[in-house]
Amino acid sequence: MIQTDILIIGAGPTGLFAVFEAGLLKLKCHIIDALPQPGGQLAELYPKKPIFDIPGFPEVLAGDLIRNQMEQIKQFQPGFTLGERAETIDRQPDDSFIVTTDKGTQVHCKAVAIAGGLGSFEPRKPELANIADYEEKGVDYFIRDPEKFRGKRVVIAGGGDSALDWSIFLTDVADEVTLVHRRNEFRGALDSVEKVQELKNLGKLRLITPAELSDLHGAEKLEAITVNQAGTEVKIECDYLIPLFGLTPKLGPIADWGLEIEKNAIVVNNALDYQTNVPGIYAIGDVNTYPGKLKLILCGYHEATLMVQSVYQRLNPGKKYVLKYTTVSGVDGFDGTRKEAEKAVVKSIE
Ligand SMILES: Cc1cc2nc3c(=O)[nH]c(=O)nc-3n(C[C@H](O)[C@H](O)[C@H](O)COP(=O)(O)OP(=O)(O)OC[C@H]3O[C@@H](n4cnc5c(N)ncnc54)[C@H](O)[C@@H]3O)c2cc1C
Repeated sequence: MIQTDILIIGAGPTGLFAVFEAGLLKLKCHIIDALPQPGGQLAELYPKKPIFDIPGFPEVLAGDLIRNQMEQIKQFQPGFTLGERAETIDRQPDDSFIVTTDKGTQVHCKAVAIAGGLGSFEPRKPELANIADYEEKGVDYFIRDPEKFRGKRVVIAGGGDSALDWSIFLTDVADEVTLVHRRNEFRGALDSVEKVQELKNLGKLRLITPAELSDLHGAEKLEAITVNQAGTEVKIECDYLIPLFGLTPKLGPIADWGLEIEKNAIVVNNALDYQTNVPGIYAIGDVNTYPGKLKLILCGYHEATLMVQSVYQRLNPGKKYVLKYTTVSGVDGFDGTRKEAEKAVVKSIE
C-alpha cells in the first residue's frame, strides 16, 4: 500500500501546484489521475493553445505550463499513479483514509485533496451496436503507447486536433494509417491540417471523407471496419480502430463519497480552507463550488495554497506555522537539493 501525507486526485494544474505548496510545508504527496499523462484539461484538450492569464507569463502554451509545473515539483518527489481512476474511499479509525483505484491500487493518506477538475474524462464512443465486443481487442480510445501500433494497419476516426496529430504521428510508426471523418473540413490547428494534406498527397496516409463508421468485423478481434462514404459502403481491413471523438468529463465515483454536491461540483468552505463537508477531504480547482467561484487556473493555485496550510494544521495540531517567503527561506527538496537566493555579503567599506 502506498503511504503519503496528502493524496491528490487529479494531476491538472491545481493538483500539481498543490504538490509544490505541500512540499514547502514538508508534506509528501501522491497523485492519482485517470488519464495516462499529467496536465488535466491543458494536456488533454488544448496543449498547443496559448494561455494569456497566468501571472508572470504574458503568453504560455498550455503544454509548456504543465512541463514547467512538473519541473517545479520534481524536487518534492511526488508519487504518480496514472491511467487509474480513484474509485472508493474508506475512512480509518484514526481519521486517515484509504483510497482505492479501479485497478486496485491503494493509497493510505492523512488527507485527501480532490483536484478532479470537471471529473474523469470518459471517451465519446461511436454509436455502433457491437463496439463493446471489440474494446481492447482492436478498438482503443486512448493512445497510451504508440509503439503498440508499430507495423500495424490503423484507422483513426475523428476531425479534431487529436485525430489529426495522432494520424500524423502514426504515419512514422504504423504500416498503414487511414483517417476517417464525417466531414471534409477538419477542426484543428492549420499546420496539422496542412500536414495531413501533404501526407495524403505523398501517399503516406489514406483519407476517407465524408464518411461515418458503420460496422466492425472480426471473429476474436477486430479485422476490418465498414464506413459509409456518401452512401457507399467501404470496407477497410485493419488491426486497430482508434475513434478520437473527444472526451466527456464525469464526476464519476467521487459523486458517491458522501460529499455535498451542487450542480456536479463539490461544495467547499471557501471562507477557510476549501474543506468539504467531510473533515480531511478537500476539493480544489474546477471541481469545487462556492459563492463567486471562477473556474480558472489562477484560482486553483490559490485554493491549493490555502488547502495545504489547513492540512498542515490537521497533521500538526496546535503547532504554529510561520509563513516564510521562498526568497528568504529557500526551497529544500525532498531529493536533497536546495535552492536559495544569494546571501547578502556583510563587509565594511574602507
Ligand atoms: C479549451 C480551454 C481553454 C481554457 N483556457 C483557459 C485560460 O486561458 N485560462 C484559464 O485560467 N483557464 C482556462 N481554461 C480552464 C482551465 O483549463 C481549468 O480551469 C483548469 O484545467 C482546472 O484545473 P484543475 O487542475 O482544477 O482540473 P483539470 O485540469 O480538469 O484536471 C483534473 C484532472 O483530474 C482527473 N480526475 C478527475 N476525477 C478523477 C478520478 N476519480 N480519478 C482519477 N483522476 C481523476 C482528470 O482526469 C483530470 O486530469 C480553459 C479550458 C479549456 C477547455
